[in-house]
Amino acid sequence: MERVYNFAPGPSTLPLPVLEKVQKELLNCNGTGMSVMEMSHRSKMYLDIFNQVKADFKAVMGIPDNYHILFMQGGATGMFAAVPMNLLDGGKADYVDSGNFAHNAIVEAQKYGEVNVAGSSRDDAYTYIPDYTLSPDAKYVHITTNNTIYGTRYTSIPDTGDIPLVADMSSNILSEVYDVSRFGLIYAGAQKNIAPAGLVIAIVRDDLLGHAMPITPKVLDFKKMVDGDSMLNTPNCFGIYVAGLVFKWLLDLGGVSVMEEINKKKAAMIYDFLDNSKLFKGTAVPEFRSRTNVTFVTGDKDLDAAFVKEAAEQGLVNLKGHRIVGGMRASIYNAMPVEGVEALVAFMKQFEAAHQ
Ligand SMILES: *Cc1c(COP(=O)(O)O)cnc(C)c1O
Repeated sequence: MERVYNFAPGPSTLPLPVLEKVQKELLNCNGTGMSVMEMSHRSKMYLDIFNQVKADFKAVMGIPDNYHILFMQGGATGMFAAVPMNLLDGGKADYVDSGNFAHNAIVEAQKYGEVNVAGSSRDDAYTYIPDYTLSPDAKYVHITTNNTIYGTRYTSIPDTGDIPLVADMSSNILSEVYDVSRFGLIYAGAQKNIAPAGLVIAIVRDDLLGHAMPITPKVLDFKKMVDGDSMLNTPNCFGIYVAGLVFKWLLDLGGVSVMEEINKKKAAMIYDFLDNSKLFKGTAVPEFRSRTNVTFVTGDKDLDAAFVKEAAEQGLVNLKGHRIVGGMRASIYNAMPVEGVEALVAFMKQFEAAHQ
């Protein structure tokens, strides 16, 4: 059985060289005679790996010295609670409602304090990034840089002045260059563009630590997690290790700027085809099209289902759109090679010719 091209939105495909390295080191990692899954998280052999992972992440993402890197659990969904618990500090927060996960972040934050929805495209099926009006006195502004389900992306990052900008980057972290210094806090579930599920990474600016609500669980308290070096309980050692291999893979490739060019090319191949197709149509407003999740339809549910099924028979799997929107979605994260996108476009052409 050959490997397929897996267009799943998350958990999603991982780089082949990374998987091969994991396979090679699974019985004996770095000459220790054991896999990383079997090491104590307090052992020197594991801490050597962990410290290298942090250094490589700092390098690949260009993280300034006044930021801390946290490896946490509970996913991006856990962060929806952790963010207000740590940053709301008795005040209110602005949230931009640009998709389903942005909406979920709002609903969670409302449990802990006052939330102002600064803009929303919910009534238009989240097909674009909405305009927003920010409050002058917000404790932070929360955005979702890429909307995984609807296939939209912020083309410019809001200027929030002195108010910390918080970004859920779960589905496009490391897919394009971001200036970390523009943000107070960045977080991302690892299972889309970094590693297996069960790990969420946060990058938090120094001055935002130490304001958590007293009820904040210690594993969600950024200050306590910084002080405990992300080890207040047993961390996801295996996920962190795989993340490290992905960071190394990216660095070897030339870094995020090189990856960004490849991603632009991959996305353009599909969008160019969609824009000239008589059968398929992109669903996101062109200005806000995602480079990591491409959403499209034929306009006919049965034909959509036939496309997804026949594509899978060709080894192009997991192209079904999210259950709340239907249609198709091709998730083309960093690990999806150009060849996979070429194969997809070739199949779309073939399918279109057969259904004219
Ligand atoms: C997948 C996703 C989430 C949810 O992530 P979990 O780790 O499953 O909680 C949140 N935000 C965005 C943008 C996502 O793509």
